[in-house]
Amino acid sequence: MPGPRGYENLVECPYNRAHQIENGRRFQIHLDKCRKEYEKLHNNIKKPCPFNATHLINSPELLHHMDNCPDRVLVDKFNNPIIDHIQAVQKKSTVKMIPQGGDDDDDWDDEPPAASYNPQKYCETNNIIRKCNGMQPHERKAFRQQEHLRLGHIRETK
Ligand SMILES: [Zn+2]
Ligand SMILES: [Zn+2]
Repeated sequence: MPGPRGYENLVECPYNRAHQIENGRRFQIHLDKCRKEYEKLHNNIKKPCPFNATHLINSPELLHHMDNCPDRVLVDKFNNPIIDHIQAVQKKSTVKMIPQGGDDDDDWDDEPPAASYNPQKYCETNNIIRKCNGMQPHERKAFRQQEHLRLGHIRETK
């Protein structure tokens, strides 16, 4: 018999690692034999399959069974909505961050003219720390003080 024909799909016997059997019908027959041997020696102590408790499996075979259990698909389908839910929660909690420029007070007067939206309103409604442009000097000063109060004087320690 030349060539390793039919031996490319070997499975390890769960009862004895030295048993390498071609997957499929041969393996089922072999598994049956080894299972009977095992049951003779171990008083038939079986464990319920985690996917279906009516599947009672000898413990060496349990992992092998879990890989091949026909009810495993149902459990996978059941798990997916939970994963989706976690991802949705993570998306919700994403925090909007706008990077701050220099903290120097002089920057306030050097800013280019304001954009079309009302920057102060934008800051208030979005609760975002930003420099606001297009104000008169006394307005800027008032706004700056307001911002310092709002930030709990954190930036004054600069
Ligand atoms: Zn075996
Ligand atoms: Zn099962």
